[in-house]
Amino acid sequence: MVRKEMRVRELFRRFEEYGWETPSWEIAARVGLSPEQIVRLDTNTSPFRPESALRELGRALGKIDVNQYPDTSYIALRDGLSRYTGKGMERFVVTNGADEGLDIITKVFLDPGDEVIVPAPTYSMFRIASSMMGAKVVSVPRRRDFSVDVERTLAAVGKKTKVIFLCSPNNPTGDCTPAKDVERLAKESGVAIAIDEAYFEFCGLSSIELTDRFDNVIVCRTLSKAFSMAGVRVGYLVAKAVTTHTLNLVRPPNSLSVISLFLGQAALAHQPEMRRNVRSTVREREKLLGRLQEIQGIEPYPSRANFLLFKVTEKDADALHRKLMAKGLVLRNLSRTKGVEHCLRTTVSTPEVNERLVAELVNALAKLPER
Ligand code: PMP
Repeated sequence: MVRKEMRVRELFRRFEEYGWETPSWEIAARVGLSPEQIVRLDTNTSPFRPESALRELGRALGKIDVNQYPDTSYIALRDGLSRYTGKGMERFVVTNGADEGLDIITKVFLDPGDEVIVPAPTYSMFRIASSMMGAKVVSVPRRRDFSVDVERTLAAVGKKTKVIFLCSPNNPTGDCTPAKDVERLAKESGVAIAIDEAYFEFCGLSSIELTDRFDNVIVCRTLSKAFSMAGVRVGYLVAKAVTTHTLNLVRPPNSLSVISLFLGQAALAHQPEMRRNVRSTVREREKLLGRLQEIQGIEPYPSRANFLLFKVTEKDADALHRKLMAKGLVLRNLSRTKGVEHCLRTTVSTPEVNERLVAELVNALAKLPER
């Protein structure tokens, strides 16, 4: 026997991990507040709870077989998804949140040395999940208005390209990619087009219809945002049946708990509640956008999602982020992200929280020196 040393994979020598959100208790300790005083506006989650689904869970809890594995075909949830989207049950892969869906896509399409294309800036998990497979990530800058530069994206497709990751509405820029652009990329590139529609309900535009015709289009969605269930971890992929079959080959058999499955089904059965919450968030988004436009020293961008991105024009964005945090308001700091330099992103919350944010922004900006 040769005694060897434990060695992690080569890729970890240059690995840029996901920037995990600092826990609220840690932020609270840092700024001298209690954890209850911390308001998370950095995770794009819903300020509402899925009340009807939770009530149903309460009533059913005694009858849920937590001592057994879930039905790994997830047929009941797929039935709910089928009613929600109008696509056949065989077209879905149920996942533990959209993030697991992205993971499954990279496992199916990427060998070490392959390439993926991401119009940047965008959701960082595309890069992370792909690098984990040993693939190279090619970033194509988005246009000035943040739209996807279809010509440049197509020009970047090479022999090793296997996947193009799109995000609509895009995190963090909030813009949608029209289905006609997705169709062109699917037709002309021929590679897998993974389109993350985590925030689709807030804009209503989708590329899901393309999955009827193109076997290289995969839509990735979640119940974490509009359905208010980020903590429950339910996501899904939609594709043509032939592609779904392949994606299912690498799906872990039991990655959703029986509780998550129950809540997922219940949430899908209460769509009017979700739609009411989405309408309220969209109304609040437009109101907050108007309020942010009135503030001297920041420039907000329009958004089709449940968050708003704004540029800090005269003061230091890092310092503004810190000042808001000291007041218990945690925003996403993107000031050093290429393409959105000097920008912060905030989740659209309730009218009360949004108003508080506006007031604290005005206060903080007044106290900061010029950049
Ligand atoms: N996709 C995008 C674009 C996101 O912003 C997020 C949430 N940060 C996710 C996926 C993750 O979704 P889930 O909670 O379903 O894993």
